[in-house]
Amino acid sequence: MNAPDSPFAFDAAIREAAARVEPRVVAWRRDFHQNPELGNREVRTAKAVAEHLRAIGCDDVREKVAHTGVVGVLKGGKPGPVVALRADMDALPVAEETDVPFKSTKRTHWNGIENVGIMHACGHDAHTAILMGVAEMLAGMRERIPGTVKFIFQPAEETPPIGENGGAKMMVEQGCMQDPKVDAIFGLHVVANDTTGKIGYRSGAFMASADDFRIFVKGTQTHAAYPWSGVDPVVIGSQIVTGLQTIVSRKVDITQEPAIVTVGVFHAGVRHNIIPEQAKLEGTIRTFNEEHRSQIHEHVKRISEMIAAAGGAKADVHIHRWYDVTVNDPALTDWSLPTLGRFAGGENVRTIDKVCGAEDFSFYQKEVPGFFYFIGCTPPDRDARKAPVNHSPRFYMDEKCLRLGTETLAALALDWLAANGAR
Ligand SMILES: [Zn+2]
Ligand SMILES: [Zn+2]
Repeated sequence: MNAPDSPFAFDAAIREAAARVEPRVVAWRRDFHQNPELGNREVRTAKAVAEHLRAIGCDDVREKVAHTGVVGVLKGGKPGPVVALRADMDALPVAEETDVPFKSTKRTHWNGIENVGIMHACGHDAHTAILMGVAEMLAGMRERIPGTVKFIFQPAEETPPIGENGGAKMMVEQGCMQDPKVDAIFGLHVVANDTTGKIGYRSGAFMASADDFRIFVKGTQTHAAYPWSGVDPVVIGSQIVTGLQTIVSRKVDITQEPAIVTVGVFHAGVRHNIIPEQAKLEGTIRTFNEEHRSQIHEHVKRISEMIAAAGGAKADVHIHRWYDVTVNDPALTDWSLPTLGRFAGGENVRTIDKVCGAEDFSFYQKEVPGFFYFIGCTPPDRDARKAPVNHSPRFYMDEKCLRLGTETLAALALDWLAANGAR
């Protein structure tokens, strides 16, 4: 019987390989940054990924998964389980305002709007480059690997264009977690609100579920000087906005988890002296558990319909479920911390507050235990609390964070295979 590899067995090889691949990870990242592509349109990026995975000798490379996704499989030299690592490839419809030499000047049309800028304002260029680097690092030590590593490059994390499906949910539906079946998954995100070298994580519910709603309040149009002759959807819509604010304050057990209901859009009318026929409200719902999520959906519907009915109007409520709660498996989270600590230094690995943003990494975590963590990307000499946040046109990434990304993802994969393989 062979002695199992110790958790430290790969550390030296990982550090050495990460240093070797770093200049190319930086170069890939700059190339993707200068040539960003929106969700489901990551054709150029996906091609570069697939060519790279083939060049380093992946046993299987599947393209066009969920439109533009790429899945690579690297079988190690020893038998064992299957671990997946995930990167997202899409950019945002944001016009870049940084002054980096590889700044994006690209423009496109998006969701019916002409001439919008495109920018990797969420750092997915880094995620893609990091995972390409990790794939190369692991390919270089494949004979020692006790199991299989799957590299999942997904499109459209920031949601696909209106009318299209995409992202992690579609990747799962199209079999990215099967053949070979994945046993655990890891992923990371660069964040501007922490500095390079720091890692943030949270066990259990980490990032919120995100759903959006649209409410059409149908009244009866009339002259604004004779309101009694119609039904005013502006006044009724305003009551609905106020009513919706009672859901979190009066209906949700906030000792369990926080929740958010925000109305971000209120459109009605074209003229000061006409009461319009209809008002349209749009908003978002964020929760940290599924029970709250379905309760809030019911309340949004009932409150809107009942307030409208009380005023003699009618409310049509449409709720779209986007992303589930990103839940880090507690056992896997605990297990991951020593590995992160070996590369980041234990004092730099910290539990952080819940995040009200959402991530479609949650769809992989519904299939298998998964762990998702943040790495800081603001230069240590700047105040991360004042740095332009992810999605800002001035989002800036310190490329020194890439090394910690490649080292930790590679180490989590190898440690996990070593710890969970056949003895
Ligand atoms: Zn984002
Ligand atoms: Zn993101």
